[in-house]
Amino acid sequence: MAKKYVYFYGLSEEQTEGDRSMKAILGGKGANLAEMSNAGLPVPPGFTLSTEACKYYSEHGGKYPQGLEKEIRAHLDQLEKGMGKKLGDPDNPLLVSVRSGAAISMPGMMDTVLNLGLNDKSVQGFIKQTGSERAGWDCYRRFIDMFGDVVMGPYTGLKHEHFEHEIEKLKKKYGAKEDTDLTAEQLKELVGIYKKVYQDKVKKPFPQDPEQQLDLSIRAVFGSWDSDRAVKYRQINKISGLLGTAVNVCTMVFGNMGDDCGTGVAFTRDPSTGESVAYGDYLKNAQGEDVVAGIRTPKHMNDMAKDKSPAWRKTHKELIQIMKRLEKHYKHPQDIEFTVERGKLWLLQTRNAKRTGIAGVRWAVEMATGKDVFTGKKQTKILSQKDALMNVGGSDLEQLLFPVFDMKEEKKANVIAEGLPAGPGAASGTIVFDADDAEAAVEKDKNARVILVRRDTSPEDVGGMWAARGVLTSTGGMTSHAAVVARGWGKCCICGASALNIDYKKKQVTVGKKVYKEGDSISLNGSTGKVYEGEIPLQSSPVVEAVIGGKAAAKKHPYYRMYEMLSGWSDTHRKMKVRTNADAPKDAAAAKGFGAEGIGLCRTEHMFFEGDRIWSIREFILAEDREGREKALKDLLKHQQKDFEGIFKEMDGLPVTVRLLDPPLHEFVPHEKKEQQEMARRLGVSARKVADRVRQLHEFNPMLGHRGCRLSITYPELCVMQTKAIIGAACKVSKLKNAVKVHPEIMVPLVGSKTELDYLENVIRTTADEIIERTGAKVKYMVGTMIEVPRAALTADQIADRAEFFSFGTNDLTQMTFGFSRDDVGTFLPEYTNRKILDVDPFQHLDQEGVGQLVKMGVERGRSVRGDLKCGICGEHGGDPDSVRFCYESGLDYVSCSPYRVPIARLAAAQAAIEE
Ligand code: ADP
Ligand code: MG
Ligand code: MG
Repeated sequence: MAKKYVYFYGLSEEQTEGDRSMKAILGGKGANLAEMSNAGLPVPPGFTLSTEACKYYSEHGGKYPQGLEKEIRAHLDQLEKGMGKKLGDPDNPLLVSVRSGAAISMPGMMDTVLNLGLNDKSVQGFIKQTGSERAGWDCYRRFIDMFGDVVMGPYTGLKHEHFEHEIEKLKKKYGAKEDTDLTAEQLKELVGIYKKVYQDKVKKPFPQDPEQQLDLSIRAVFGSWDSDRAVKYRQINKISGLLGTAVNVCTMVFGNMGDDCGTGVAFTRDPSTGESVAYGDYLKNAQGEDVVAGIRTPKHMNDMAKDKSPAWRKTHKELIQIMKRLEKHYKHPQDIEFTVERGKLWLLQTRNAKRTGIAGVRWAVEMATGKDVFTGKKQTKILSQKDALMNVGGSDLEQLLFPVFDMKEEKKANVIAEGLPAGPGAASGTIVFDADDAEAAVEKDKNARVILVRRDTSPEDVGGMWAARGVLTSTGGMTSHAAVVARGWGKCCICGASALNIDYKKKQVTVGKKVYKEGDSISLNGSTGKVYEGEIPLQSSPVVEAVIGGKAAAKKHPYYRMYEMLSGWSDTHRKMKVRTNADAPKDAAAAKGFGAEGIGLCRTEHMFFEGDRIWSIREFILAEDREGREKALKDLLKHQQKDFEGIFKEMDGLPVTVRLLDPPLHEFVPHEKKEQQEMARRLGVSARKVADRVRQLHEFNPMLGHRGCRLSITYPELCVMQTKAIIGAACKVSKLKNAVKVHPEIMVPLVGSKTELDYLENVIRTTADEIIERTGAKVKYMVGTMIEVPRAALTADQIADRAEFFSFGTNDLTQMTFGFSRDDVGTFLPEYTNRKILDVDPFQHLDQEGVGQLVKMGVERGRSVRGDLKCGICGEHGGDPDSVRFCYESGLDYVSCSPYRVPIARLAAAQAAIEE
């Protein structure tokens, strides 16, 4: 049997051949037209040519697949019979529209032809049929315009503007203000002019044969799939894997036959605030895209309810009813197109409405509770809790957690550059180029708002990064220093905005021809990566004010209540734990507020930068022998132990994974001469000695150099000190008057072979057991390792013999599996994703195909020797919804992510469990 390419819809349920599940082959528009017909809604009937036909056409140099022509004819016969009219009939013509529609909506990408079937004869038949001379000529002139522009335009250069120019001229000639002021006679004159415009460009008269009109239009829609702008749109929006566009041939209904007619678009709920009120625009006596084209100012839907004519008021009621029905049917707010022909309402399209994150959250919550979160007003319950959770995305929830720009103001603002959305939220302020300047500004004025603009950042800059409202860098990817640190704090950050040309000396940044100096205002949208000129007004997040600030008023805010509800539902449905990456009690407290169930990664190196501690570690680095190093570490021990006490107290009863020192030592020493001199003065050595040591520490590949467990193996005293600090703190807080339960997990980084862990486990256990015995505290601890070197994943069965837990460090694991330096990906990764060599940045979304195999293998091999091996992930992927799902499928016990991503991970974990 030949393949079926054409599907009928409308007239009756029996005749409708498709439904909403067939989006891939009928396109979104076609599938929903069929679905609405099945539901008995008023849809003008027609038929849909499948995306498979388009694929064939596109792959065979513009040839129809065999049998398509016949199938079109058969379906057209069916339509003509059902409607009692014939395409092109001089007495009783059928008019149709030819509309594109792919599986994913691509707004404005492929155009539509309306009123097809009109010619010099059928226009008379149409006039007789409708009794409206004006509508006849109005439709005909529109048809010539659209057919000329959409169908012939790509080959001949004929454009809508050419026609537009003529109608403007004619309006002037007759003193008509709007299109609707033109009389039938004048529109007839216009048709004559349009035909000339057409002939001039196309060099052929306007085609009179309706079958030819239809054929050319179908081909044009198919052809537009491969047009430059469609290809580009798919590229920009990363749309792939579609077959092509479907073509819908749809019986025309007319909104342009007088004041009892009209056309409009509407949302079943407000797409920007999420409020449960129908939201839409319509125009009387208009057709097709007049509403969005801005030809006349449309009226708001509410006006329809107040119209003088009872017919319009009745239509309003009916429309509202249908919208409610659609929402319930699709279990999702809808975005619809409708036309009213002489008081009769027709639906021309419906689709799941696009909306802001806030609106998405509000819809989900209100549809599940049946209650307006703002007013408490009752609504229909449409969704189960599970459905509601599946309707919200991580990025939607994110919009509740961070300050956001006033949407209208943001639209008006000037985008000067774009980078990676590294730390969400929004920030406005004045530019500084130096971390110290940022700190100084805030020291001087607590409320100073500065944006730190740098090529990149290093641990030395954290003070200034903290002080700044937002951080902007011109290099670096999603796991660059700036990105990781900013995300940890929930600070707005944009990385790798490569259009920025930063000159530290002149204290200015150049973008193209524009120059921005220190003190100039800019704004960052860290959720989209857009950098704007000037200040944009901000709204702060009530959720953060409630969770972090503990403000009672904020807890009553509807945003907070929505967050609470969704998070609560998430917790009922998820099975995987969510921990956080936190290095300080303050961060741990924030994360706990957001629902973290432990710390999955506490990086100790950040503790080395605070206050005067940097001098101890520098002394350690300069020391000549073990004795000297141990002396330097004494001071650090005191500080570290205090830090851990604070963290353990904060996480009372929850597990805390502490990672031993990880970064290469050169990160702790200054690289500029002036600072090296100061270091020499402070530590009482010669400047030369400092400079020599710094030079010694230089490595060609620091990420693959002397770091991680390699540091602790070469300097065991470092491992001893850190173990003392961790276990010392644990013993101390467990013996306090109001004792705290502690579950320390000591984690060795960058292990590649079991023997590395053997050696360090020994050091750790000897040190720890001695303290526990001495203090008599009842502390149980675990020793485990990060799995971040591919070799560790491959030999996980050996390593698990020693390790009590695994934590997948997917930042390094990605770096080493791809061989991509995570600090240098900015130079080529954007090009990779642009050209689709990689679909996405593997540092943002876990590469499940490659890196993911190592994770799965690590879990399996590890558990093959230790059945109860605790497994988690602590890379940045722990807060990425897709990666969280993968972690769940791989059998991980928990994911760990930065504090502000904990709610997102909770949601993603719930979705993973529901989907299962
Ligand atoms: P888009 O995908 O750009 O929205 P559509 O195919 O939906 O394009 O159509 C463009 C406009 O024409 C819409 O306003 C739609 O409602 C209107 N339209 C399409 N087909 C018909 C029809 N058969 N009768 C009346 N109006 C139509
Ligand atoms: Mg449409
Ligand atoms: Mg690492």
